[in-house]
Amino acid sequence: MDLLIVIVVWIIFGIIAGVIWHNNGRSGNGGFWLGILLGPLGIILVLVMGSGLACPECRGSVVRGASRCKHCGAVLVSASTPSAEPTAPPVSDRERHRQMLEQFRARQGEKGK
Ligand SMILES: [Zn+2]
Repeated sequence: MDLLIVIVVWIIFGIIAGVIWHNNGRSGNGGFWLGILLGPLGIILVLVMGSGLACPECRGSVVRGASRCKHCGAVLVSASTPSAEPTAPPVSDRERHRQMLEQFRARQGEKGK
C-alpha cells in the first residue's frame, strides 16, 4: 500500500476519533491525537471512554449537558448551565432628570447664538 494512503487513512482515524471526542462534550484535540497515534484502536478507546460523566443513580454514562439520565431517568442538576441573564440597570430618576437638564441647556445654548 502507498505510504500516502496510509497517512491519509490515519488522519481520517484522527478526525473520526476527534468528532466522537467532541460529541462526548470534551474540548481540545485529545480525540484527534488518539486517533492519529492509535488508529482504529484510538477510536475504540474514545468510544469506551464515553462522555466521562456517570449518572449518580445508576452509574451509566451520561452525555454532558443532559438534564436527565437516559438509563434511569434521574434528574441531573449539575449538568445544566446557570441561566444568568444580564439585565440592564434601570435608569434612575436622578439620571433621567440630568439628561433632561442637559437637553434643556443645549436648547438654551442654541437660542443664545
Ligand atoms: Zn441513571
